[in-house]
Parts: sequence; C-alpha cells; structure tokens
Amino acid sequence: MSDTQAPEKRRAPVKEGKESKKESKEGDERHEAIYRAVSDAIVEQRLKPGARLREDALADVFGISRTGIRKILQRLALEQLVTLTPRRGASVTRPTADEAKDVFDARQLIECGLMPDVARRMGEKEAAELREMARQERQALRSGQQSVAIRLSADFHVRLAQLSGNATLAEFVERLCSRSSLILAVYGHPGHLGCESHDHDDLIGYLETGNGERAKAFMSRHLKAIEASLSMVEEEESAPDLQQIFGG
Ligand SMILES: [Zn+2]
Repeated sequence: MSDTQAPEKRRAPVKEGKESKKESKEGDERHEAIYRAVSDAIVEQRLKPGARLREDALADVFGISRTGIRKILQRLALEQLVTLTPRRGASVTRPTADEAKDVFDARQLIECGLMPDVARRMGEKEAAELREMARQERQALRSGQQSVAIRLSADFHVRLAQLSGNATLAEFVERLCSRSSLILAVYGHPGHLGCESHDHDDLIGYLETGNGERAKAFMSRHLKAIEASLSMVEEEESAPDLQQIFGG
C-alpha cells in the first residue's frame, strides 16, 4: 500500500478563537498557492507527462507537511492532471490516445456550442480584453517564452467560455484546456503551441460583429486543426528536478 493512498490522519480538533481561524486561513491560502504552482507547472509543460511527483521532495521544496502535499496531489488527481498509483505514488498524467480524442470531442461540443452566446454578449470592452490576450500570446511566442504562451493560449479559451455567461461550462472548459496542455506535451510537436495565434484574432472578429454561427464554425475548424497536428507516439518517462522547477 502506497503512502499516497493511505487514509488521511485525523486532524487535531481545531480550537475556537481568532488565532486558530487565522492560522487555518493562512494554511488554506498556502495550500491554494502550492496547488496553483504545481498545476501551472503541469499546464505550462515545465513538468512533463509521466514525471514522478515524490511527496517528500515536494514537501521539502514547498516547506509543508507530506499530509499537506498529499491533499494537493489528490485534488490534482480529481482534475486528472495527476495520476495516483498504488506503491508508485503520484506522477503527472500521461493521457492515452483515446483520452486525447475524448478531450477534443468534449471541447468541440462545449466550446463551439458556447460561441453564439459569446457573440450575443460581446461588447467593446470584452473584445478589447480578448484582443489584448491574443496580443500577449503572440508576443510571448515571438520572444520564445513557450510556457507563457501555452498558458496564455489556454487562458484565452477559458476567458471566451466565461464570456458566455455559463460559469459551470466555463469551469469545465478550464479543466479540458488544462488536460489539452498535457495532450499537446505528449502528442504535439516540440515548439508547437496547438493554437495558431492569428486564429484567435480572426475569431474575435466574428464575435465582435455578432456572427455567432460563423464563430462556431471557425472554433470547430480551430479545434480540429489542433487535434490534426497531434501525432500519437509514445515517449520515455523522465524524473524532473523539483528543486529547479519550484525552488528559489
Ligand atoms: Zn486556440
């Protein structure tokens, strides 16, 4: 039985009072920050699919208990960014070809389906915000900041989904985009982002003029082009230097 799978130790009863509440709030914030740091490293492909995530090494790097790290890994496992295996522990999920297809099918259904709503709700302010995101993405690509560009590209899709006004679907799109980054890391070509960044500008154009159906068709082609760029070849697993990624 792996310690990753072991049941959580019971927490000591929390004392009522300002001090303990403050401590637990700080603990929650710390937990959130570490969760965000690990999840960003996965989405930005600084941690590669298959990479082992040792609890003790992560606990050292972030200066928290192994129990705390275990909770974060369990949360990432629920989001399918991390895989927990008995005895072997945690590793960054390596999506299978079938899972990759399912993720892109789901993105087709949801992201394309949201485009008419986005077009209806698109005002000048929203269009300007999206244009700025697309500009930053191009700039990151030009200056060779691959991780930043991957993150900005995913953010663009998530922001679009949020602009539909459906928070539940937007949250789902966020997870699908995170998993897409893993898929691109495994099956994409090195140095290829997935999204053609001028596509994002074209899409904003259709949305700005309220042409929801055109935007829907364009999003469908955009996602199909990303999927078509993938090649299903297996890669060797790697052992990441956690100190280098998170330390200092
Ligand atoms: Zn895109």
